[in-house]
Amino acid sequence: MGKVLIIGAGGVGTVVAHKMAELPDVFSGILLASRTIEKCDTIAAKIGCKRLKTARVNADNVPELVQLIRSFEPDLVVNVALPYQDLTIMDACLETGVSYLDTANYEPLDEAKFEYKWQWAYREKFEKAGLTAILGCGFDPGVSGIYTAYAAKHHFDEIQYLDIVDCNAGNHGKAFATNFNPEINIREVTQKGKYWENGEWVMTEPHEIHQPLTYPRIGEKESYLIFHEELESLVINFPTIRRARFWMTFGQEYLTHLRVIQNIGMAGIQPINYEGKEIVPIQFLKAVLPKPEELGANYKGETSIGCRIKGIKDGKVKTYYVYNNCSHEAAFAETGTQAISYTTGVPAMIGAMMFLQGKWKRPGVHNVEEFDPDPFMHELNMHGLPWYELTDIDLELD
Ligand code: NDP
Repeated sequence: MGKVLIIGAGGVGTVVAHKMAELPDVFSGILLASRTIEKCDTIAAKIGCKRLKTARVNADNVPELVQLIRSFEPDLVVNVALPYQDLTIMDACLETGVSYLDTANYEPLDEAKFEYKWQWAYREKFEKAGLTAILGCGFDPGVSGIYTAYAAKHHFDEIQYLDIVDCNAGNHGKAFATNFNPEINIREVTQKGKYWENGEWVMTEPHEIHQPLTYPRIGEKESYLIFHEELESLVINFPTIRRARFWMTFGQEYLTHLRVIQNIGMAGIQPINYEGKEIVPIQFLKAVLPKPEELGANYKGETSIGCRIKGIKDGKVKTYYVYNNCSHEAAFAETGTQAISYTTGVPAMIGAMMFLQGKWKRPGVHNVEEFDPDPFMHELNMHGLPWYELTDIDLELD
């Protein structure tokens, strides 16, 4: 049992707060803090739980964070603000002697770069302080790494080929919208593609490689190879992997809008001068796009995210597919958010639970696949993200 400070009152923070509020035996005190306290208050009022309190914090400011952490004395800080805040929050955790968990790796504001190097550089500091930092504990990254660790533990002697497949077959009825923070989302999907093969990274043009893949209960969807951050840690933690790729589905309408946004410069991350004021095009775009947290009410359909793995078991080639399907409507009925926030917030809550229960507690900075996947996999079934396995099937990916 312990106290948790959640930072970030967006779609994901809403789900984390909801799920933690339901578990008094694990989370004895919850403080939801964000830049806009009114958002925290609205979420807390909807949940209506006495153990859930709210605060205002600018997570870019280490002294402000330190003051908040000292006043609440949490056992763990769960960072579901934006990736830009990862390092300041880790600094504040070190200064106050509190452990840390997040769902997305650090990104500098002025460069769309997805790398763990900045956070891995904190390993020694967390080790020396006897504190645990759990990185990337959402769905992907997060459950994708835990599925891989589970497959390595129970299904394979050697994992050789890993394909993470992420399908959102939901329809929110808008011409264009992003499912989580538009700035982070657009930065992620417009970058060059990259995958791991035979010991090195292979670069591709954005969306250059694509093929149809069949998703359970959904059917065939065009899937595009993109780089995703968990690939970086998975190929290190599972060195037998010969090839690791990440696939995401996009509709034609979405890709057309994205192309236009890029072509007209609205995805730019460098500030420009507009009528004497500096604005960043992608931040302005975020202000006019539909808010991800407002998509939920009319969102229909399901997501399906999983790992397709090929390797060796008992001297024979084996194929394995582990996945979850999540309904946007069911997620909304339960928490008031769509499935993307739900599939991220539930694993963040479970990661916090793993830490508080001492099952995932190890000084240093760790990616999720470094911990025992079994207790986490058990809790996924208990808290709304059940998983299914298929073995010896055609993975559709050569
Ligand atoms: P939102 O944009 O909905 O929410 C982010 C929240 O963080 C907002 O409430 C915002 O406050 C707050 N925030 C931003 N900057 C600061 C700051 N400096 N200080 C305090 N609070 C701040 O994002 P999501 O909820 O969709 O995503 C949250 C995180 O989850 C992101 O890092 C995203 O990358 C990650 N994610 C991970 C996934 C995974 O599977 N691993 C999938 C989806 C998301 P305000 O509104 O006042 O600006």
